[in-house]
Amino acid sequence: MNNTIYRPTWAEVDLAAIAHNISQMAGKLPGHCNVIAVVKANAYGHGAVEVAETALQSGADMLAVALLEEALTLRGAGIVAPILVFGSVAPQDVPVAARHDLTLTCFQTEWIRDVNQLSLPSPVKVHMKWDTGMGRVGLRTKEELNDITEALRASKSINLTGIYTHFATADEADLEYFELQQDRFKQLWQTFKSIWDKPVSIHIGNSAAAIRFPERMYDYMRFGISMYGLYPSDVLKAEQAIDLQPAFSLHSRLIHVKRIEPGESISYGATYTAADDDYIGTIPIGYADGLIRKLQGMDVLVNGKRMPIVGRITMDQTMIKLDQHYATGTKVTLIGQQGSESIEADEIAAKLDTINYEIPCMISERVPRQYKRGDT
Ligand SMILES: *Cc1c(COP(=O)(O)O)cnc(C)c1O
Repeated sequence: MNNTIYRPTWAEVDLAAIAHNISQMAGKLPGHCNVIAVVKANAYGHGAVEVAETALQSGADMLAVALLEEALTLRGAGIVAPILVFGSVAPQDVPVAARHDLTLTCFQTEWIRDVNQLSLPSPVKVHMKWDTGMGRVGLRTKEELNDITEALRASKSINLTGIYTHFATADEADLEYFELQQDRFKQLWQTFKSIWDKPVSIHIGNSAAAIRFPERMYDYMRFGISMYGLYPSDVLKAEQAIDLQPAFSLHSRLIHVKRIEPGESISYGATYTAADDDYIGTIPIGYADGLIRKLQGMDVLVNGKRMPIVGRITMDQTMIKLDQHYATGTKVTLIGQQGSESIEADEIAAKLDTINYEIPCMISERVPRQYKRGDT
């Protein structure tokens, strides 16, 4: 996707960084463990098809998404690799999934019964989800496990190919709850092993769990945030157990530069008033692009230096205070690097009191993604 852009505002997605992050992860994992590339939510805002293709070329052998819609987008782009859908898919939508050879997530006996009533073009593959403490979806007890396993054994419409669980605290300093979840997983596994004899693949870890405990991973790990070059938390960032390269950066260009006198104000509400003679630059990006109003006061980079956003961010345009006059067309970096300075998603997340996962996700589809491949 290298569409012409008319407005000089764009996100750059460095696919070589994604390849690098996958090879770093693969290098830590035991030989029997492969990478599932998690490309839900348009690959955390990076662009699902491009990231999926890069991940598959870089050694990932399965993809995962949250929604059936997201899986169909990948199939529509000609991607034939296995795709796991994490979220719940209603029984009436299972034929679509079967037709596109998608792998669904299964955790309810009733769902299995409803799927058995359908006529499917071919059996649908499922991974069974065990809720060991995340509390989102998944079966929790041995009784449920017995029930569901019995129903799966009897089903001609469903092929069980995998088992998985998800950790709630793998990114935290205190690992007690993480260990509890692993114990519960092992207990459920003992039960399952005694009632099921066909091969299934197992995956338990997200980025945080796999980076910290690669040797505990089974057949796959599910690589999300760190595939995009971000650490799952400050704890992991401090541990530096893996070398990551951020793939996402966000840029614009000055479209107007002016000098204002002391006492002059900027933007809605006139919340910024110049104390001195100021150079003010305008960039064509605003809250409709995901640059939310709470980011007033945040720095951006111009000429390798930090300059603050001043006045309210408007829907489509934002003003910054410059240290001198710059020509219109000068590049402004909102996320990423200029020279030796950088503004990381982590810094923006801290300013917004949230996690870095939200930052590329919040940059809206109005901002075109441009892809950088290898050294080109
Ligand atoms: C999103 C998601 C992941 C990826 O987690 P990261 O922390 O981004 O690596 C893994 N597994 C499941 C079930 C998820 O929903």
